[in-house]
Amino acid sequence: MRSGGPAQRPPSVDALARSLADLGLPHPLLVEASRAAIEDQAPETARIRAELMATRLLQPVLNATGVLLHTNLGRAPLEHTTDGRQTNLELDLASGGRGSRQSRVSGLLTTLTGAEDVLVVNNGAAAVLLVLTALSAGRGVVVSRGELVEIGGGFRIPEILAASGARLVEVGTTNRTRLSDYKVALEAGPEIGLVLKVHQSNYRIVGFSESVAICDLAKLGRSVVADLGSGLLDATTPWLGSSPPPWLAGEPAVRQSLVAGADLVTFSGDKLLGGPQAGIIAGRRELVTACARHPLARALRPGGLVISSLQETALAYLRRDTTAIPFWRMAMAPVEQLRARAAAIAAKSGDRARVVECLSVAGGGSLPGLEIPSAGLALEGDRAALLRSNDPPVIARVKEGFTLCDLRSIDARDDLVLADALARVAASSLPL
Ligand SMILES: *Cc1c(COP(=O)(O)O)cnc(C)c1O
Repeated sequence: MRSGGPAQRPPSVDALARSLADLGLPHPLLVEASRAAIEDQAPETARIRAELMATRLLQPVLNATGVLLHTNLGRAPLEHTTDGRQTNLELDLASGGRGSRQSRVSGLLTTLTGAEDVLVVNNGAAAVLLVLTALSAGRGVVVSRGELVEIGGGFRIPEILAASGARLVEVGTTNRTRLSDYKVALEAGPEIGLVLKVHQSNYRIVGFSESVAICDLAKLGRSVVADLGSGLLDATTPWLGSSPPPWLAGEPAVRQSLVAGADLVTFSGDKLLGGPQAGIIAGRRELVTACARHPLARALRPGGLVISSLQETALAYLRRDTTAIPFWRMAMAPVEQLRARAAAIAAKSGDRARVVECLSVAGGGSLPGLEIPSAGLALEGDRAALLRSNDPPVIARVKEGFTLCDLRSIDARDDLVLADALARVAASSLPL
């Protein structure tokens, strides 16, 4: 008790926590917020502290950034539900015996890619780590100096190589690497495990540059692993029922890389594949088996939720049902359709927002510099924070004094939600 004045007893933690019950947070979290507020002798801040806790929780958001595979928003959007029942994850329904969690989705992915065998792990980085560890630990891995990439989030090829126990053998220069550079390295060291080609996912070297194609690396007589990253399954995009859109130009694809002579390819599940976070190792059976048998494989294996979501994605590709893959649905929406949606949203929001043309990108560290024509809505000033405070939060881009909501990355069923958010934010009297 502080001395002096009539004893103003602080509210009890429990009573304060109960007064916040309408926020819908579990009681222990309300107690935590209340206790912290009372300890700071500011019980009136308990509500705002609890609200902040709720804001920090994972929740659905509207991606208005126009970056379709937004790293901060979980990359590929997913539609996946479970009904609370278990699955036959490791049960073979035909025999009643133990089954493999990998075999079904692996079978679907071999059909889609032409690979002999496929192994699924937790993410792309895990796929590269497992391949290098299982196939080349204690031996050399030849990589072009132009491909010693950092993908972001701490994924750097030289560091993954070091972690795998393989030894990095750099060849060529930043801008030019020739087949003869690889040959020299292979002649110098008999203890070379494999040749690694890494896709420059998020940057391009242009101008006076040269690199060696997979079909030429395959002539070197060593195993060639291509870390493709983005996971475009087939350069002819049969699932689209049309030729590939211009923004996919030059993106290496799984099927064509294997045909060109890659012994293994690795890629992510949640980039251009449009599935859940996963890493996929596809290629020659004995190499995939060697990866699957390595003790690390167990540590890097995906959970049942991921496997069943990836199975849904693979089945959608096989059915050529692009509408079942949210990423492709967004990416392929005709720009006229987006313009029409934008006009309707502008009208519903009381014409507070202006219809604008804009450019989306695939994102997720793929296709740098390639843009997809799009349409959206612009509000004057920086309204990003206000839009983030909407329920559900709307994540927008601020550019040249305007807040832009790109409709390509927003599902049409959220148009009314967006219209409401725009009307509310535009009407807000808060200073810009
Ligand atoms: C994205 C990427 C990775 C890492 O994949 P994650 O799924 O993010 O772990 C590795 N290599 C390349 C070339 C990539 O583009």
